Amino acid sequence: MKHNPNLTKETVVVLHTSKPIDVSEINKVILSNKNVKTLNKLIFLYKDKVKQVHFHGKIADLKYLTNDFQGVIKVFAQTKHEVIKQSKMLTEKKCFVCPEFPIEKLEDISFITSMGIAVDLLYTVDHMNKEVVLKIVDHYLYFPSLNIPIEPFHSILMSKLKEKKLQLWNLHLMFPGLFFHVDNTGIKEDPNEAGEENRLKEYFESIPTDYPECLSCAHFHVCFSWGKYKKDSCFLWKEILDRLQSSAKEIKIARHG
Ligand code: SF4
Repeated sequence: MKHNPNLTKETVVVLHTSKPIDVSEINKVILSNKNVKTLNKLIFLYKDKVKQVHFHGKIADLKYLTNDFQGVIKVFAQTKHEVIKQSKMLTEKKCFVCPEFPIEKLEDISFITSMGIAVDLLYTVDHMNKEVVLKIVDHYLYFPSLNIPIEPFHSILMSKLKEKKLQLWNLHLMFPGLFFHVDNTGIKEDPNEAGEENRLKEYFESIPTDYPECLSCAHFHVCFSWGKYKKDSCFLWKEILDRLQSSAKEIKIARHG
C-alpha cells in the first residue's frame, strides 16, 4: 500500500485504480472503476470511508456489488436500453444514473425518473443543449409527481434550503489540494489532463482581473466562476442558479409565511 505524505484528514481520495493506497490519515474515499470485484475488495478495505462509488462497467454486473457500505452509487450508463432492462435493480440499489448516451429532449430523462431512478447530469450539463437543460431543471422543480432527485440541481437546491455551503467545483471533485485523483501510477492531478491542478490555481488567481463581474455575481459563492471555466459564456449556469435560487425562496416563503 502506497503512502502519500500530502494526504490529510480533509483530503478526498478519488481512486481510479485497483491498487489500494494508505488512507489511514483521511476520512473520505471515492471509488471509480468498471470492475465489481475490484470495487467490492476496495469497499471491504476502506469500509465507511467510502462516500461514493462510480461504476463504469456493464449495469447488469452491478448485481454483484456488495451492499455493505453507505455511500452513493453513480452508474455511468452507455445506453437507454441498459437502464430500462436493469431498472428494478437500479431502483433497489438506489443508484444515480449518469447518462453517457445523448440527451436530446426532456423525455430522455423523464423516462428514467418515471421508473423511480435518480439521475445525475453533473457530467453532461455543460455539453447539452441549453434549452433541454433548462426544461429538465423546470421539470425537477415543478413536475408535481416527481419524487426522485435530479442532480446536480437537487443538491444545489437543498444546500440553499438548508443553508449549507456547496460549490460546483467540489461537486465535480475538482479543487486544488482537496481532491487527490489516484491512478495506477500513484497520485494523479486529474484523471483526464496532466497539470490540471496548477491550471486551476492559475484560473482562480485570474478571476479578479479576467472575470471581475463574477465577484459581484449573486451566485459566486456557489459557482466560483465554474460557469466560465473552459466555456464561452456562463449563461446556462446563471439561468440554472437563478431558477434554483427563486425556487428556494418560494419554498422558504411557503414554509414560513
Ligand atoms: S454565474 Fe457567471 S458571473 Fe456568476 S459567478 Fe458564475 S461564472 Fe461568474
